[in-house]
Amino acid sequence: MARRICSPLVSTALSSKGFPLRTVIVGAGSAGLMCAWKLSADENHEVVVVDAGIDPGPEVPPELRTDILLPPEYYWPYIDEDTGNVLPRGKVFGGSSAVNAAAAVRGHPWCYDAWGSEVWSWEACLPAFRAIEADQQFGQDDHHGSNGPIAITRYEQGAFDLAFQDAYRSHGYHPVADHNAPGALGFGPFPTNRVDGVRMSTLLTVLPQIRTRPNVELRPGSEVLRVLVSDGVARGVILRDAQGQHTVEADRVILSAGTFGTPEILFRSGIGPGDSLRAADLPVVAHAPELGTNLSDHFILQMDVEVTDPTALAMPGGQGTLLTFELPGDRHPQAHVFAYHAAFFDPTAGPHTAAVTSSLMTPESRGHLELGRGPARVHLNHLSAPVDRSRAACVVTAVADIVDGLAAQGRLKLPDAPWWRREDLQQACREKAVSYHHPVGTCRMGREGTSVVDEHLQVRGVEQLMVADASVMPSLPRAQTNLATMMIGYRAAGFATR
Ligand SMILES: Cc1cc2nc3c(=O)[nH]c(=O)nc-3n(C[C@H](O)[C@H](O)[C@H](O)COP(=O)(O)OP(=O)(O)OC[C@H]3O[C@@H](n4cnc5c(N)ncnc54)[C@H](O)[C@@H]3O)c2cc1C
Repeated sequence: MARRICSPLVSTALSSKGFPLRTVIVGAGSAGLMCAWKLSADENHEVVVVDAGIDPGPEVPPELRTDILLPPEYYWPYIDEDTGNVLPRGKVFGGSSAVNAAAAVRGHPWCYDAWGSEVWSWEACLPAFRAIEADQQFGQDDHHGSNGPIAITRYEQGAFDLAFQDAYRSHGYHPVADHNAPGALGFGPFPTNRVDGVRMSTLLTVLPQIRTRPNVELRPGSEVLRVLVSDGVARGVILRDAQGQHTVEADRVILSAGTFGTPEILFRSGIGPGDSLRAADLPVVAHAPELGTNLSDHFILQMDVEVTDPTALAMPGGQGTLLTFELPGDRHPQAHVFAYHAAFFDPTAGPHTAAVTSSLMTPESRGHLELGRGPARVHLNHLSAPVDRSRAACVVTAVADIVDGLAAQGRLKLPDAPWWRREDLQQACREKAVSYHHPVGTCRMGREGTSVVDEHLQVRGVEQLMVADASVMPSLPRAQTNLATMMIGYRAAGFATR
């Protein structure tokens, strides 16, 4: 089945061993490494993992283990073109899982059921969610796992959390022990894949398990320029590393370069809206009208307040309690609220400053990518849909009441003219919204012929080319996106070997 014509500059060490199948995975992030882990468990399957970022090796430096604000070389330089806000995306083995805040929430069954395909129903996704995790509190429950590579625990509750919990209770919300129980709503410990302060990224968990496998080759520092396609079949990738430009041939290519990176590579390979490709003077290999559209991202709205007792903020981890609740409306519109020491994300924040943060987890606004030969220009378009503005204002009003109550008890001090009391609150929300860093959807999966990938993540119009990363999600789960993305990577390996 396999033909192997390696360019002189491609490592031939593994291919000379004659593995029957060779797959190139582009992007060693949340999905890419999870996919490589599962795929290379079959020792007949040779897997080459390519990433533009570095592989720090077995001795992972401390900042990649714990920090949130990392040196610029660990990020791609994206910005939101409309606001100028920086949009961090990890550029390192581990991808964004190695630079993220390590909240580990799955979302609810109806998030996945809404993707419109039985292949991605909650029931179909649950075994993969279970396989990737080792839940330290609920691992024995039917809907959890205890043997996967990603350890999940829950933050301890400090005095600050307990004050908020009291306030949530007095506003009629209920306690919940496990936010990852299907359908759970209320307040309770934030699930996290940060254990003893260390972020359980795919860099720290999955990569050590595959780096010594004889059927795995890692190629750090290698930026993929495009997919090699001939006669409608993907044959490998063209990449650039410190030595120059090379071809890596393969029987299958899986793109896991993320919501911005994967559409860039597809577009440069001639896969995208025909008119845009022609305008960029690129060949039309496959017309993919939706590529780069359907961009969906959570936004957060932050209320900065002062705590009267700063020792209450001195807790491990930084963000202990999560409140989730539904808003009136169809299809489970939902909010997330959490409060933490503002220094968690902003080192200039004083010892008294806390951030009370809320997010609408079901935004209907959609942005898009402007694609060309260079990096994508990102338009997140947060709160462009009127329904998002009215729901955001509704969430902020509910949270403002909670904050007011804590201020009345003398636990918090509010600023003189809080933005969340503005009369034009919907407009204020639009001005204050910043990314929660969960972009998805630019290579939407669907059953319709217009979707970029089909239900098994195969790119329409090109054989042996798959996408496995956050970009395939048709819509956001009511959760941060890392667990869902790793679940996709894990399942993609199964589709690749069907
Ligand atoms: C600052 C931040 C905080 C976040 N906090 C959380 C959180 O607390 N909880 C949560 O669940 N989610 C969080 N997320 C989101 C979550 O981390 C992402 O949704 C998830 O990691 C996306 O995974 P991915 O596989 O799609 O892409 P990534 O993990 O970003 O991986 C893509 C990889 O592809 C590589 N790549 C891109 N282009 C190329 C190319 N041309 N050639 C070669 N390699 C390429 C990149 O270097 C990268 O390693 C956060 C994200 C960020 C950035």
